[in-house]
Amino acid sequence: MARIVMKFGGTSMAGTERIRRVARIVQRQQAAGHEVAVVVSAMAGETDRLVNFCREANPLYDPAEYDVVVASGEQVTSGLLAMHLQALGCKARSWLGWQLPIHTDDAHSKARIEGIDAQALLASMGSGEIAVIPGFQGLSDKGRVTTLGRGGSDTSAVAVAAAVKADRCDIYTDVDGVYTTDPRIVAKARKLKNVTYEEMLELASVGSKVLQTRSVSLAMKEGVRVQVLSSFIDDDAPAADTIPGTMIVSDEELEGLDMERQLITGIAADKNEAKVTLTRIADRPGAVAAIFGPLAAANINVDMIIQNIAKDKGETDVTFTVPISDLARTQALLEERKDTIGYYRMLANSKVAKISVVGVGMRSHAGVAATMFRSLADRGINIQAITTSEIKVSVLIDEDETELAVRVLHTAYEMDAE
Ligand code: ADP
Ligand code: ASP
Ligand code: MG
Repeated sequence: MARIVMKFGGTSMAGTERIRRVARIVQRQQAAGHEVAVVVSAMAGETDRLVNFCREANPLYDPAEYDVVVASGEQVTSGLLAMHLQALGCKARSWLGWQLPIHTDDAHSKARIEGIDAQALLASMGSGEIAVIPGFQGLSDKGRVTTLGRGGSDTSAVAVAAAVKADRCDIYTDVDGVYTTDPRIVAKARKLKNVTYEEMLELASVGSKVLQTRSVSLAMKEGVRVQVLSSFIDDDAPAADTIPGTMIVSDEELEGLDMERQLITGIAADKNEAKVTLTRIADRPGAVAAIFGPLAAANINVDMIIQNIAKDKGETDVTFTVPISDLARTQALLEERKDTIGYYRMLANSKVAKISVVGVGMRSHAGVAATMFRSLADRGINIQAITTSEIKVSVLIDEDETELAVRVLHTAYEMDAE
């Protein structure tokens, strides 16, 4: 007998038929003798719909009220799944974020989980009841509903798995594993049997939305075994968890599993960032701090940063990227501080995409970045910004060239499936 946390994403929960299928997958796992808890997402498209209502209400909406609105999608699906399980004769009940509770900080719209009270959950699971938990939501110590950032149900699932010391956290989605790149963009993408935590962390953080970044860092920190697999299987197929998905493994495990690793493990694209440039800032100590201090205080994550070489006049341009969802607030904050920062103009462009190549093989091989720059140049794709880490190279390009760039790089690094 194992203790398993199963998480089902938005497409798996989109409508009565799909939820019924999920209920059968869960029932099967329990019938196999396992203790199960289930974490669910809102129906596909529902969170986007709710976010739009908030934007229409006020582009500079109050994040605490945004959380009240967007957390509702998961409340609906958790109740529905509990009903479907009951209809199959299972004992099941929902546990909303505030009922467990799932404690978070109060960074509304991107809260971090601080802890989960697991006693009630363990007692429920131990009694043969299936606990159904809405993902994405929590409770701040001020007693208000919070949400964990888009894609946050993955993080809820891993946190629940850590709290109940689950043997495994199975993330069921609409693809049957983690691929070399988004299989919906590149038909020649290959499924990976194993990915290391570190690679998955980089891939997620640069746009492979198959797992939310925080879920991967939490799994790494808490040592949760995570598997990605598909919920789109026929009823007469073998139990879902006997069909191999992708296992997230440690570096040491990988060495034993896969000696012939490719240099690059995956390629990701992210269209959710916007580029901001402040021109003619005084080239003096403290100038950059005056820009990024207020953004950090407002919980806005800045990603790529470039400070151009100072011109003779002692002036410099600073370019950086922020999530598109934070662009309006970023512009408002910097506009307010125009005199203190002392810039001339603020330019913003949300028609950009960040393309990244990731692989632990990069540590021991030179030339990965050079191949990237050359392959993009050969197709006339212009690079607007670059960042690197030990196992990743990212470039910012025009959004219209995203698909082309990913395909070109997939071929250039010899990753195309036969
Ligand atoms: P869910 O609703 O189940 O949480 P998501 O839409 O968040 O599902 O994540 C699954 C999607 O992630 C897939 O449909 C796929 O298009 C996308 N994706 C992006 N990069 C990858 C990748 N490297 N491997 C697999 N899927 C990927
Ligand atoms: N429903 C939320 C979203 O769409 C959380 C999730 O599905 O993981 O972002
Ligand atoms: Mg997701």
